Amino acid sequence: MKDCIFCKIGAHEIQAMVVYEDSDILAFRDINPQAPVHILIIPKKHFGSVNEFTAAETEILGRLVLAGKNIARQERLDERGYRLVLNCGEDGGQSVAHVHMHLIGGRAMTWPPG
Ligand code: AMP
Repeated sequence: MKDCIFCKIGAHEIQAMVVYEDSDILAFRDINPQAPVHILIIPKKHFGSVNEFTAAETEILGRLVLAGKNIARQERLDERGYRLVLNCGEDGGQSVAHVHMHLIGGRAMTWPPG
């Protein structure tokens, strides 16, 4: 999608610190990390938010989570644990309108989130 920063990162038109890529998914380090490890995992196809997902996206959703698990192991987070987060909309704290899953780890998380 034109003018979408994460579409541009997915298409390598804007640089990012990429940690994983396949034909449909890109994962890169967050520019403003909230923990020692903070990675964003995106579908290359544009979805404005989770609200746009339908049953047709079941496979890509599963692959995002599996990529999160595999990257967590690559980053040595698997033993102590980590968090996978999908913010949706204004109340959900979503600031970039292209679906992205946060992989956050390397410190103990608190609950409930802010
Ligand atoms: P959210 O608030 O859930 O929409 O998360 C958006 C995330 O994207 C934030 O954690 C930002 O720090 C991150 N972000 C925004 N622009 C970039 C960028 N160019 N490269 C890497 N991360 C970015």
